[in-house]
Formats: sequence, structure tokens, C-alpha cells
Amino acid sequence: MQPDDVAETIRFGGAPETERPLNRSMTRGFLNRCPACGSGKLFRSYLKPVDHCAACHEDYTHQRADDLPPYLVIFIVGHVALGGFMMTDMVFTEWSSWFHLAIWIPITLILSLLLLQPIKGAVIGLQWALRMHGFGGKGNEPDHGHQQDYS
Ligand SMILES: [Zn+2]
Repeated sequence: MQPDDVAETIRFGGAPETERPLNRSMTRGFLNRCPACGSGKLFRSYLKPVDHCAACHEDYTHQRADDLPPYLVIFIVGHVALGGFMMTDMVFTEWSSWFHLAIWIPITLILSLLLLQPIKGAVIGLQWALRMHGFGGKGNEPDHGHQQDYS
């Protein structure tokens, strides 16, 4: 066996498809870049993705990020703010509750607003890399390949 044989991805059946590395796609989305080519912009405004990449014309109307980005932002920012509050509360015992609120409410708001677009971009990159919701060019049907007759 030669080392070259090991490095190649084994594929069984189906038409050959181009590779869509998950890490690269999500990183490009996180940085507001098209997951497909990495040069076009992914968002036309704060949270509105472009319909088509200006550089490679990849169709982004298939994205269904929905509630996942805000869920992830709440999860991350909640841990940062709550953990930060509890740590500073233990270290600086003389700080009043009002002082804590004056620090942690702005940090929560700013972090949430800063993270929401990059995380939505990463989610779109994830959906694109996994060929979800029509990103694979097959429409938005389930992947069963046959139609069930329920009549
Ligand atoms: Zn592109």
C-alpha cells in the first residue's frame, strides 16, 4: 500500500462532487466571506445574506439559519457575562450590584451585537458545506430518493 492511496477520500456511488471542507466554509462565513469562493461578501446588511455571491454567483437563497445563530449567541454570551460577573463578584467584593449592572449589561449587549453576524455567517457556511436545504443543487426535499405515496 502506498501513502497516496490512504490520503484519498473513498466515495461510493453517486455523481462526483467537489469538496466542501467544513472548517474552511465556516471560517469564511464567520469572516463575512462567501463560503464557496472566499472573496465575495456574504452579507448585504447586518443580518441579510446576499442572494448570490458577487464573485462566484453561488446561490445563498437556500440558507435557513433561522434561530440557530441567536441561540448560539445567547449560549456563548450568557456564559461569558455570567461567568465574568461571578468571578468579579468573588474577587471585588466591594462592588455594588449597580456597578456590576453598569459593567455587564453593556458587555452583554455589545458582545451579542458583535457576534450575531459572524455566527450567522458560520451557520450559513455550515449549511453550505453540508449541502443542506438545496445547497447541494437538489432542491429542499428529504434525501430519500423516492416518493412515498400516502393516498
Ligand atoms: Zn463566492
